[in-house]
Amino acid sequence: KVSSLEPREDHQICVCVRKRPLNQRETTMKDLDIITIPSDNVVMVHESKQKVDLTRYLENQTFCFDHAFDDTASNELVYQFTAQPLVESIFRKGMATCFAYGQTGSGKTHTMGGAFSGRDQDCSKGIYALVARDVFLLLQTAAYEKLGLKVYGTFFEIYGGKVYDLLNLKKKLQVLEDGNQQVQVVGLQEQEVCCVEDVLNLVELGNSCRTSGQTSVNAHSSRSHAVFQIILKSGGKLHGKFSLVDLAGNERGADTAKANRKRQLEGAEINKSLLALKECIRALGQNKSHTPFRASKLTQVLRDSFIGQNSSTCMIATISPGMASCENTLDTLRYANRVK
Ligand code: ADP
Ligand code: MG
Repeated sequence: KVSSLEPREDHQICVCVRKRPLNQRETTMKDLDIITIPSDNVVMVHESKQKVDLTRYLENQTFCFDHAFDDTASNELVYQFTAQPLVESIFRKGMATCFAYGQTGSGKTHTMGGAFSGRDQDCSKGIYALVARDVFLLLQTAAYEKLGLKVYGTFFEIYGGKVYDLLNLKKKLQVLEDGNQQVQVVGLQEQEVCCVEDVLNLVELGNSCRTSGQTSVNAHSSRSHAVFQIILKSGGKLHGKFSLVDLAGNERGADTAKANRKRQLEGAEINKSLLALKECIRALGQNKSHTPFRASKLTQVLRDSFIGQNSSTCMIATISPGMASCENTLDTLRYANRVK
């Protein structure tokens, strides 16, 4: 049903929700799927999934978005309605940003980085790769070939308010703001890429850097924001930029780790940055003169991607279907509702 819709380009900010399937662990624990997508832009949460009759449940909560994808949607389909309509804007000197927002385990990295099969991630099926594919296609069209653009990739992580270069052994980088409020991540590696394959290699390099030294793959990566950027330059100057952001898990974990001070600080930092992100997106949507970029490193670093009339944003809020994730899912849906 969803695929019959035409992607819409008229939105400054497009907010979508994606539900993942119940996983094996949830199925084994007999967790219930409490999420239904009754139409292509509506999400229903059935907090108490007791059927009153064949069509009605008790205690439903309904949310509307630009699009809602059920657990059968492919990355390609999600891409078509979110990031894809923004790709061409970077050829017209625009700035585009796509966020994946949601609790740990809800499918952010699956969506952005690519589907997992077993423990291996197939990067070629993620939004990073799909954006790259379309950037190189557009680069070869008559309209843009003559611009003589070069393509670069960056990949970095923001953890605890610090920036680390994933293409350079997690080197810690300084963020500077000049008198014109231009923000610069000093020394960030910008690797020239000439084809999709080059981009996939960067993603793989960054991913291996992101998880190295960690006992559990999700332990560290879920507490940091990962930013992958595709940059167009003309004559050495910035022409356009697409930032793809795999955000830190939004779950409220601090209470479960009272004994662990590090975790509490991590959680506080994440809350701060996700709150700042929401405030910034809202301020832009309402054309407010003041946008609180400085409130977090995340928003500060992404500042140039947000600014100006020629910028566009999309958000993919990912949700787990299980009853056990209900509180986090409602948090995610409320947040996504607020940025719209
Ligand atoms: P997050 O990055 O939000 O913590 P992941 O992307 O790592 O979550 O997803 C957690 C697990 O769920 C992974 O094993 C992933 O393959 C699986 N998964 C997530 N989304 C989907 C989906 N839409 N379809 C199938 N499997 C999914
Ligand atoms: Mg992840």
